[in-house]
Amino acid sequence: MKTIFEYDEQTSGHLADEQVSIELPGDLRRGDLPLPNVSEVNVVRHYTNLSRENFGVDVGFYPLGSCTMKYNPKVNEDVAKLEGFSSLHPHAGAKFAQGSLQLMWDLEQLLKEITGMDAFSLQPAAGAQSELLGVMIAKVHFAQKNQKRSKAIIPDSAHGTNPATAAICKMETVVIPTDLRGNMDLQKFKEALTPDIAIVMLTNPNTLGLYEENVLEICELAHKNGTLTYCDGANMNAMLGITKPAEQGFDMIHLNLHKSFSTPHGGGGPGAGVLGVRKFLEGYLPIPRIVKQDAKYAFDYDRPKSVGKVHSFYGNFGMLVRAYCYIRTWGSDIRKVSEHAVLNANYLLSLLKETFEVPYNRSCAHEFVVSSKNFGQKSAQNIAKRLLDYGFHPPTIYFPLIVSEALMIEPTETENKETLDRFASALKEITREIEENPQIVANAPHATPVGRLDEVMAARKPNLKWSAGNRII
Ligand SMILES: *Cc1c(COP(=O)(O)O)cnc(C)c1O
Repeated sequence: MKTIFEYDEQTSGHLADEQVSIELPGDLRRGDLPLPNVSEVNVVRHYTNLSRENFGVDVGFYPLGSCTMKYNPKVNEDVAKLEGFSSLHPHAGAKFAQGSLQLMWDLEQLLKEITGMDAFSLQPAAGAQSELLGVMIAKVHFAQKNQKRSKAIIPDSAHGTNPATAAICKMETVVIPTDLRGNMDLQKFKEALTPDIAIVMLTNPNTLGLYEENVLEICELAHKNGTLTYCDGANMNAMLGITKPAEQGFDMIHLNLHKSFSTPHGGGGPGAGVLGVRKFLEGYLPIPRIVKQDAKYAFDYDRPKSVGKVHSFYGNFGMLVRAYCYIRTWGSDIRKVSEHAVLNANYLLSLLKETFEVPYNRSCAHEFVVSSKNFGQKSAQNIAKRLLDYGFHPPTIYFPLIVSEALMIEPTETENKETLDRFASALKEITREIEENPQIVANAPHATPVGRLDEVMAARKPNLKWSAGNRII
């Protein structure tokens, strides 16, 4: 059999003009494969039953704080499945991929509008990888300016990926505590802002679900110090169409398309964590950049300052299609996403205020953190497990680290009032159970395919083989 694909040596196959043909080998199989012989209905039942062992946002409420587990509209899937997108070979040259390149170019324009940034790289596969790209860019930037800056300022409420990124880039982390209102402590920040600080990594709204009230001053002070400002924008779901991170003073931001822009996530991906930068940093972005000339789109590899590539080809393209579809579906109404996300979070917070301690008591953004410490040690974990019996995915627990017995709850905008009411009632009911029947909570869950796991064992010696015998009922 013969097949033909196009190859361009100058660009290692990314641009195509010269045709090369190769021979594919014929049938090499030596004997029959030992495949099970089962009927279609048994295969369907097997996989349907497997899928029912699992929990997803299509099954129930999934208020996993900081992860923005909103409903993923199915129209996104339909569009991503269109053959022109899904069957396009990554080696197809620019002239055969104009529609896909236009989609990426247009998505970049939309993200620029949403954030106020001047350019975006769509390559990183996750928020963590985008942070890595951002800090790599900061390092190259200062190396080119011949400045020795080796430290990153990060508040103690930050996601673990922030200090992990700094460490991978051989930067020392300077941790700033949180003040009594839940902001990064401004005084401590000022004291820490020495000439060797390369970058400030701030999450806004922060992981307590609170808007950083001093963000303008923080960015201004950083810039006066020659320091770059980086926004961990995983929480963009609170700000869509309301405020732009570039106008808050940030030089770079990553967005998690798999959070704010409704592309599916969980179970390891794939995701898309795009990086936006201001003009003076654009030259460092990964190659290839997509450029538009006379209504045609092309790859531009001629970027001498670029840090290189951070992903094969152009990123997780299918995720880009879904995010593009989502943003276009909302159009200029996208502000409603955040308005409803913030409304839902504040409504749920108001229902739970009397039951749980609220460590930083002010109105929240798209999520909030309460503490169950009044219900004893390990109560957050026990409550989380018991929620499974009530048909809810648990919230994030024990994060951020600065709140003991933390329950971090993010309802998202796609849930209705009835669901939020049911969830609040379940939580209240569980706290009653802790008083009246503590064992049932301490040993939960009882109604799931697998009961309470030894989590350390499960992480160290995972049993990945499914069988009915795995059930602990
Ligand atoms: C999810 C998240 C990240 C990391 O994003 P990934 O795509 O999981 O790598 C970073 N910061 C915050 C605040 C997050 O919520």
